[in-house]
Amino acid sequence: MIPVEGVQGQKIAVLGLGRSGLATARALRAGEAEAICWDDNPTAREKAEAEGFTCRELTRAGAFDDISALIVSPGIPHLYPRPNPVVRAALVAGVPVDNDIGLFFRSVATSEWDEFDTPPKVIAVTGSNGKSTTVALIHHILDHVGRDSQMAGNIGRGVLDIDPPRDGGVVVLELSSYQTDLARALTPDVAVFTNLSPDHLDRHAGMGGYFAAKRRLFAEGGPDRAIIGVDEDEGLFLAGQLSEGMGDDRVIRISSGQKLTEGAGWTVFARKGFLSEYRKGRQAASIDLRGVKGLPGAHNHQNACAAYAATRALGLAPKVIEAAMHSYPGLPHRSQRIAEVGGVVYVNDSKATNVDSAKKALEAFKKIRWICGGLEKEGGLEGLKSSTGEVLKAYVIGREAAHFAMQLNVEAEVCTTMAAAVARAMAEAGEGETVLLAPAAASFDQYDSFEKRGEDFIAEVTGRLKE
Ligand code: ADP
Repeated sequence: MIPVEGVQGQKIAVLGLGRSGLATARALRAGEAEAICWDDNPTAREKAEAEGFTCRELTRAGAFDDISALIVSPGIPHLYPRPNPVVRAALVAGVPVDNDIGLFFRSVATSEWDEFDTPPKVIAVTGSNGKSTTVALIHHILDHVGRDSQMAGNIGRGVLDIDPPRDGGVVVLELSSYQTDLARALTPDVAVFTNLSPDHLDRHAGMGGYFAAKRRLFAEGGPDRAIIGVDEDEGLFLAGQLSEGMGDDRVIRISSGQKLTEGAGWTVFARKGFLSEYRKGRQAASIDLRGVKGLPGAHNHQNACAAYAATRALGLAPKVIEAAMHSYPGLPHRSQRIAEVGGVVYVNDSKATNVDSAKKALEAFKKIRWICGGLEKEGGLEGLKSSTGEVLKAYVIGREAAHFAMQLNVEAEVCTTMAAAVARAMAEAGEGETVLLAPAAASFDQYDSFEKRGEDFIAEVTGRLKE
């Protein structure tokens, strides 16, 4: 655990008592502050009280009189579509609002670090897609070379739950836009922006707010190295804004598809299955990604570029990074190959919860029997149309499957349930084809989470293959 620094003797309110909220309360207690907790759910409050924390209804008059800060969980809206009433009460009372990420950055470096040979480093990854894959890959590469590494944030443990980093240790954080929007301290050594496409727009009042939230990771602390995906205008703009001209190698521009060979101080890009690193216009290294099983498709090659750049920024050699990439096992529910039987490959990409990630999955495979559908996100499905060239047929799931199917530009069968979709896709699939779950929608109409949806897909496929 990372005890929170500089809060001794203070009362700090904690709103939301899920995994990160409880970890925050414990870290505050370890920092000799008193955590005053609240969650609308009585069961969550009981859990906190069982650990000896005080709960207080934070919307009642005067509730913030003795409170010095409010720490908010990422699932709770702090501004859009409208602030949670507790957040609003804190703002009205003039109490600073922060989150566990802000507390982490304030607390992670201790005086003990002065004695270390190699001070610990924090790498933070944000972006619309590829965050988890990039974080897991960075962690895997560091692990491969024997560097002490911990994953935290949305992947791995809560940020305040990790062990204090040791001499030479690295913390790799996955940060969502909700988290970067609210944190009052954001000071990673290396920060990564993978890409940007519409997602969570209701929580940011549109695309501008969403980009502004992510951009804070670079604007607030000013990382030593900023690794920026420049394949969208927002990334291109951010890279330009952060660098003192093209030659500035504090910014590492990355791309999947573009050849970034001209002028820039430091670039890493992937084209046609090869990753290249350029320094001041000269090629510094190259890696053949085509045989890297855990990272299929151009989207994963973008993640490979980001992880490569981040670990290069820490001083690792291209050769060891390449060797580590070959043993990267991949993450469940992201381009996860679950079986190959009779020449048919089965791939679980349940994490493709938005249009952009599903597009990338559709572009990564050939001859696709595509299982899609679920709770549609804002912005519609129009964006999928240009990526369905390899789709032989869609098998649509979800409560609104018929409406979803109508919007597709490929032959689509309304299956509604996963069981029906898998049965139909398997019955029709032939040698050389891929049965791909890439929903392009959230799972909440039928499942508790995208993980549960992916597990259901795996169970249906493996169950039927055994028959
Ligand atoms: P995040 O943590 O940002 O949600 P993940 O690594 O979990 O990212 O991947 C989420 C989804 O996006 C998966 O469906 C995955 O296949 C797809 N994906 C992964 N990397 C990228 C990328 N660089 N660009 C677009 N889609 C991606």
